[in-house]
Amino acid sequence: MILAIASGKGGTGKTTVSVNLARVFGPGVQLLDCDVEEPNDHLFLMGVPRGEETVFIPVPQVDESLCDGCGECGRFCEYHAIVSFGATALVFPEMCHGCGGCANVCPKKAIRERGQRIGVVETMESGNVTLIQGRLDVGAAMSPPLVRAVKARLRDGPPAILDAPPGTSCPVIATLRGADHVVLVTEPTPFGLHDLRLAVEMVRELRIPFGVVVNRVGIGDDRVRVYCGTEGIPILLEIPDDRRIAEAYSRGELVVEALPEYIALFVKLRDAVLKRAAADRHESGRTASSIASRS
Ligand code: SF4
Ligand code: SF4
Repeated sequence: MILAIASGKGGTGKTTVSVNLARVFGPGVQLLDCDVEEPNDHLFLMGVPRGEETVFIPVPQVDESLCDGCGECGRFCEYHAIVSFGATALVFPEMCHGCGGCANVCPKKAIRERGQRIGVVETMESGNVTLIQGRLDVGAAMSPPLVRAVKARLRDGPPAILDAPPGTSCPVIATLRGADHVVLVTEPTPFGLHDLRLAVEMVRELRIPFGVVVNRVGIGDDRVRVYCGTEGIPILLEIPDDRRIAEAYSRGELVVEALPEYIALFVKLRDAVLKRAAADRHESGRTASSIASRS
């Protein structure tokens, strides 16, 4: 099962949920820190390094002796990373997503590709958790290819938790694609509700089953709870606003280790997610067989 932890904005407790859930998930769990601009799961897990791989994306290089400036490449590139200029084409490597499309459409075969480094993927072991994290190079702008490189290290079989970047932009979509279930972490405040609505729109668009974790319950108001009730969104867990959790976080400690009374809370979340994922599988299997029996 692949579970993604996401939130409509930063600072809601997404990291807290990811690392503590991973710790109680059982043996062999994979935790992928896809927040490649600011990976911080490692601060709480203190893992033993097991390897580092450099990630490159293929960026076009134009051979001016072959290029006639026809502009096919620029018309193809939706990111405006290559444009024809006079009798040749100019490349803006920092905007290139490395899709290879321009080289394919070039009628003169004037485009070669060179590898451009964007960051690294690091692997660590911490008790029951294998942590795989991406780290985007300073100055590199393209995080989705690095997110995909992190996810490419996912092993089939053992459960996986994907810690998504905050927000609802491309790197988040790149993280969530292929997930079986999403947990949206929010806070019971007007800002939390605003960003939760955006996140809900996103996962509905992606058609991934999801539930909500409300963090710091006790602050704010009950509008998140009312919204979830109205929308039929399950609240999988409520984490109280406990100053000791914030203190453990500031010391880089796992809540389930600093405050063992919270182990049951995260086990409850794990069980709720596993139960819902099993129900989703059953439901999709039932739908597939009913479609098959109708055809
Ligand atoms: S498609 Fe090829 S020939 Fe045409 S402008 Fe681009 S690089 Fe030059
Ligand atoms: S590789 Fe893709 S993103 Fe990069 S310039 Fe070519 S078409 Fe654009």
